[in-house]
Amino acid sequence: MIHTFIHLARTAEGSSLNMTYIIVFVGIAILSYIIQASLKSKFEKYSRIPIGMTGRDVAIKMLHDNGIYDVKVTSTPGMLTDHYNPANKTVNLSQGVYNSASVAAAAVAAHECGHAIQHAQAYAPLKMRSALVPIVSFSSNIVMWVLLAGVIMVESFPQLLLAGIALFATTTLFSFITLPVEINASHRALVWLQSAGITNASNHKYASSALRSAAYTYIIAALSSLATLLYYVMIYMNRRD
Ligand SMILES: [Zn+2]
Repeated sequence: MIHTFIHLARTAEGSSLNMTYIIVFVGIAILSYIIQASLKSKFEKYSRIPIGMTGRDVAIKMLHDNGIYDVKVTSTPGMLTDHYNPANKTVNLSQGVYNSASVAAAAVAAHECGHAIQHAQAYAPLKMRSALVPIVSFSSNIVMWVLLAGVIMVESFPQLLLAGIALFATTTLFSFITLPVEINASHRALVWLQSAGITNASNHKYASSALRSAAYTYIIAALSSLATLLYYVMIYMNRRD
C-alpha cells in the first residue's frame, strides 16, 4: 500500500484521478482493518465456546469420514498459521487450534481439511491456484521494483511499466482464484461439522460466522490487489507519448 502513495505523490498530473485513488485506497485500508479486527475478536470469543473434540481430533475424523487416510495432521507454531500443505499432504494446525476443544478450533481444523478433500478430489480452482504458485512467487520478488522503475521511466520507456503490470496481474489473478478455493473449503467444513454432529443447533452459527469473517479477509485482499492493478494501468494509459 505504501508504494502506491509514493507514486501518487510523484504524479502531479491528473490530480482528480489521484484524489479518487487516494479515497479508494484509504477506503480499502480502513475496511481491511475493520475486517481483520472483527475476525480476531470473533476467534477469541469462539475459542471460549467449548466443543467435545480438539482441533486435532476434528481434523482426523473429517479426513477419515471422507475416506482420506494418507493425510497427516500436525501441529505448527504461531497464531493463525493453519494451512494445508499439498506437497507433503499435511494438515498443519496452529497450537491453539490443535489442542483446543472449541468452536473456533473445530471450524479452522475442518476448513483446512476442506482443502485436503479438494486436493484429493482434484478440485479445479485448487489445481489452478497451485499451478500459479511458482509464477506468483517469482513475480513477488521483483514486481515492486519493476513497477517503481516503470513509473519513474513511464515517459521514456513505457514498456517497463507494462511488464510490471503483467507481473502484477498474475498476483491479482491468484488472489481471485483463491476466493472459490477458500469459500468452498469453508462450505465443506460447515456441511460436515453439522452432519457429523460436531456442532449443534446452538453453536453451529459461531462456526459459520468465524469462517465467513475469514472469507471476507480474502475478498478484501483480492479487491485491494485489483485496485492496485488498475491504478498502474491508469498511470500507463495517462502517460504522454
Ligand atoms: Zn483456506
